[in-house]
Amino acid sequence: MCGIFGFIGDRSAAPLLVEGLRRLEYRGYDSTGLVVKNGSLQMYKKVGKVTELSKILPNHIEGDTGIAHTRWATHGSVTDTNAHPHLNRDESIAVVHNGIIENYAIIKKKLESEGFVFKSETDTEVLPHLFAKYLKMGNNFLESGKLVLKEIKGAFAFVAICLDFPDQLFVSRNSSPLAIGLGQGANFVGSDAQSINHLTQKIIYLEEGDYALIKINDV
Ligand code: GLU
Repeated sequence: MCGIFGFIGDRSAAPLLVEGLRRLEYRGYDSTGLVVKNGSLQMYKKVGKVTELSKILPNHIEGDTGIAHTRWATHGSVTDTNAHPHLNRDESIAVVHNGIIENYAIIKKKLESEGFVFKSETDTEVLPHLFAKYLKMGNNFLESGKLVLKEIKGAFAFVAICLDFPDQLFVSRNSSPLAIGLGQGANFVGSDAQSINHLTQKIIYLEEGDYALIKINDV
């Protein structure tokens, strides 16, 4: 097992992301990472425990939206590069993912033939590139997410963030758990209630195949 945490709202994201990761530690993991949106996507990833990640974080990271991850490697060795989040080429989209994209090899081959360049050995990395492909075709974030879901098979939960849609998180789950927490001027997403119930008691548990667009005051 492993975990996902995400935040969109009215306060500094980084401390919330680190606390979310600590609350997911019991699930087991080999590496961690996070992205905070602040004009660009500020990304930090590290093999090892959350304390190892904390050591490489600046004292203050500006930004009120972000996503974080504890990884249990299934595809690709345990390295900083393979840790999540994963980005598209121009680093405008980031994705954290738990589970397995079963048909990733076919998708990766097709994307590579279309010119997409992969940096990691993970199955996950097809997700930011697929988002990039569908966004470039003129789809909005929600439409792109729905098109990504049509392509992928497997057991997964993921959260995506995009600089071009700064006030939105796209989330989906299929066989891996994911819950959304509804706050005041802020919303949260996490692998379980334990990761968000210190922030809000209003929790929606996503069901198989569900997807959602999370905004600051709306889901
Ligand atoms: N399959 C992905 C990887 O190996 C996600 C693993 C996980 O659930 O943490 O990076």
